[in-house]
Amino acid sequence: MLQTTASAMRTEQLVNELQTFGARLVDPNAGADSRRGGAGPSDHKALNIDGMTVMVPVHTAPAHASPYVLEKPDADGNSRISRDGVTLSDISFPHRPRFYDLTTQDGIPFSKIAVLHGKDVLATTVLQSCVRYRSRTKTCQFCAIGQSLAAGRTTQRKTPAQLAAVAKAAVELDGVKHMVMTTGTPPGKDRGAAILTESAAAVKAAVDLPIQAQCEPPDDDAWFGRMRAAGIDALGMHLEAVTPAVRARIMPGKAQVPLARYFSAFEAAVPVFGRGQVSTYILAGLGDTAEAILDMAARLIGLGVYPFVVPFVPISGTPLENHPAPSAAFMHGILQPIATMLVQGGLSAADIKAGCGKCGACSALSTYERGLSA
Ligand code: SF4
Repeated sequence: MLQTTASAMRTEQLVNELQTFGARLVDPNAGADSRRGGAGPSDHKALNIDGMTVMVPVHTAPAHASPYVLEKPDADGNSRISRDGVTLSDISFPHRPRFYDLTTQDGIPFSKIAVLHGKDVLATTVLQSCVRYRSRTKTCQFCAIGQSLAAGRTTQRKTPAQLAAVAKAAVELDGVKHMVMTTGTPPGKDRGAAILTESAAAVKAAVDLPIQAQCEPPDDDAWFGRMRAAGIDALGMHLEAVTPAVRARIMPGKAQVPLARYFSAFEAAVPVFGRGQVSTYILAGLGDTAEAILDMAARLIGLGVYPFVVPFVPISGTPLENHPAPSAAFMHGILQPIATMLVQGGLSAADIKAGCGKCGACSALSTYERGLSA
């Protein structure tokens, strides 16, 4: 046994370093298909390490120069991580999900409707276009929502019936445990709440699967009750960056929705979904200071909102592809205190019913939480 018997602290640090440095992949065909392009963090490969599934950047510029190497797996997907020729840990790559082999009645592969994330999460982008993506002056600079569509790896609009069929198959064939439904922001004031609501209702009618929906704050807080009634169990409204100047620089379109609206939406959504079931993605490494992120995390946790803080990944083909990823030391300096705040505030990744915070594969945060609990 190698790293797998190491202390929780060593596992946290290894996961943190893998997610900030990335890793070199000896065999590009190892494991399940990588995430490339799409909404949110991308260019990762899922791997299992010490009982967890984590997403490790492998297709980014920093990953190509990483000191970490993922060795070619054997026929069962078992492999090792090494650094400077020294083996650090046994790992394995998740297998390709069986539902990927199915197609809709009109011949669309199920893998173009939704994909497996982490270990047991079904993830879909219901609308693979965004009102903010049409112009690079307005688009979120880190986002690649149009790339997977342009490459033919997904469809622009997933219908409720398609999502229901794929969700049912993913539960029955691959044992998925929860579902993430994100969306590009459509034109209109509901900012995607309407299509998420109808999609969730269709999935819940087909299969009992906890669902997290992700969208910008809608114009009307009444949407939260409608979403909950349709079967959405958890809600993500993502700040991405926490200081107004960084938000304006990194996501000039989305920053037009001010922080004040995010906070009024959080205050309205938490009573509907419950403490800890509303979350927000924060991309660390885009210019926010550690202090600003920690202050924001404390404010969010006080409201009952889970701050899912992940290291920024410079996705190839985006305006930020050459922006450096944050250092492992920077991430350690925020994740450790945020994990402590979460424990003290009574919030935890394990208690979230569905979504990114529960999956945790894009951040070492839940590993830090586990380290504290241990
Ligand atoms: S944390 Fe979210 S984006 Fe990352 S792998 Fe899990 S479900 Fe996907």
